[in-house]
Amino acid sequence: MYSVRMRAERSKKHISGAERIVEEENISAAVSMLAERALCHERGKPEFINISVEALRTPIKSVNSLPLILTQVEDSKEGKALARKLLLTLKIPLLCIEKALALLEGGPADGENMRGAVIMNMLGERLEPDKHRGIRASRMDISREASGELEHTIADAGLMSYYTYISEALVLATKVSSVEGTIAELCWSDDPSYTAGYVASRELGYVRIPYLKQKGDNHGGRVFFVNNIDIRNYVHEMENTPVLVNKFGGLKEISMDRI
Ligand code: AMP
Repeated sequence: MYSVRMRAERSKKHISGAERIVEEENISAAVSMLAERALCHERGKPEFINISVEALRTPIKSVNSLPLILTQVEDSKEGKALARKLLLTLKIPLLCIEKALALLEGGPADGENMRGAVIMNMLGERLEPDKHRGIRASRMDISREASGELEHTIADAGLMSYYTYISEALVLATKVSSVEGTIAELCWSDDPSYTAGYVASRELGYVRIPYLKQKGDNHGGRVFFVNNIDIRNYVHEMENTPVLVNKFGGLKEISMDRI
């Protein structure tokens, strides 16, 4: 199997990134799909596109996706209140939650978006070695079967226009939660038109929140909340261990009494 990865930049700023894990005969289709993605992004035309193809030498971890939980909120204020509650349920200290929200609201790389994620410990300290780049979860994909199951569920929920966002985020969150030491992840997109985000964890699943920012806001990012990690091992696994989601974990509900 091969890892095919794309990133696109303009004026040295990250515009988009995406990736696949494919068999040899599907490499050229994946490369052309990713080139297309890079060229048609709402954040603008890239000046630099890098697409890499690499044979995977380590065994691929086959996993079930986190279960998907869909929530309803009226606006980003309500969405953030829900995210706070979920993170508190997961025993993330309030100080860390407020710091993470403020970072994503203002741009975690000195007012700019990062290419990757912030890693935050339970004292609210940032552990990512490069505070501008962040840590990128990488080498992950979803099988055709699992993707079909997810598509049915998303279509039934009337969210088909967001399919690519949800699928890619669910795969990423599943990989992040599978790395030992991750307690939770908070994310919202930096695409100005996409207001949704999520709180993901092994304990509660992938909780999609339709509003975590206002339309038009081009700030976004990810925070991985961690406990007791060796930062080098953690980053190594996040970037290198290939993960393939082979089964969709299903649509679940969480009882609001729990949070
Ligand atoms: P997106 O969901 O693609 O709009 O990305 C939102 C933010 O999440 C980006 O600005 C990055 O800071 C971060 N991000 C995107 N992709 C990754 C990744 N593979 N690993 C870690 N963080 C990422």
